[in-house]
Amino acid sequence: MLSELVTTIHRIGIEKIFLLLMAPVFVVCMTTEYLVLRHRRQQTYSLHETRSNIVLALSHAATDGIAWALLLGLFYWIYQHRLFDIPFNGWTLLLLVVLQDFFYYWFHRGSHRIRWMWASHVTHHSSETMNLSTALRQSLTYPLSGMWAFWLPLAWIGFKPEHVILVVAVNLGYQFFVHTEAVRKLPRGFEAVFNTPSHHRVHHARNPQYIDRNYAGVLVIWDKMFGSFVPEEAPCDYGITRQIKTRNPIVMMFHEWRDMFSDVARRGPLRLRLKHLWAPPEWVRPAE
Ligand SMILES: [Zn+2]
Ligand SMILES: [Zn+2]
Repeated sequence: MLSELVTTIHRIGIEKIFLLLMAPVFVVCMTTEYLVLRHRRQQTYSLHETRSNIVLALSHAATDGIAWALLLGLFYWIYQHRLFDIPFNGWTLLLLVVLQDFFYYWFHRGSHRIRWMWASHVTHHSSETMNLSTALRQSLTYPLSGMWAFWLPLAWIGFKPEHVILVVAVNLGYQFFVHTEAVRKLPRGFEAVFNTPSHHRVHHARNPQYIDRNYAGVLVIWDKMFGSFVPEEAPCDYGITRQIKTRNPIVMMFHEWRDMFSDVARRGPLRLRLKHLWAPPEWVRPAE
């Protein structure tokens, strides 16, 4: 039954399902948040920012769909060489959700500490406000940064690629709901285990004590296990340290690629020039 449902979803296409089912949910939630914030006189929605975020979401969804179509063959090739034959049931689906979230943690940590990956992810962080529409703010260059490579081990372990695609989408869908200031804290037991609005506000803040913290997707336990967790205490100052001021979605998606390649193009020893591609975003080339 569960397997048939997943296969049917896959046959129709996960991107279409996601847009058809989730887009109305996103719109209803954003409208509700807008009204709540207006009632509280804490409005953070602006027309130009929300419009940019939606344009970025659609361009991301388009390239993501193309990337999956191109890469599915590779996933199936690896799946043919899988380590285990895993039956599909509720327990193994739960296991897949947890394992995929583990790999998401490392994808996200890499996206902040490797400039080639940050060049895509910076788009998600360059907003100086935080509301549900911020979740939609994504870049079309994620496939170029290699996001998909983090899911390859799941196929190698023995999870069917179509199940992996579904779980990746569900993980990102969950994360939509943590981009809000309308909810302060959730019950303590939930805050202890799951990523929440409070944990993710910290992740989007550029206060020195909050930078590169709380990489969680669904479970916050990875941050606690790997030493990147910080609770929300001081108010969050959202944005990036080298803030860009633009209303142009193209600039939002490509400014860090431009800066990175202009750093690589600067004269100097080849090894140090290339290091701009994999060093942390704040790395500065030592003077010769
Ligand atoms: Zn991030
Ligand atoms: Zn976020």
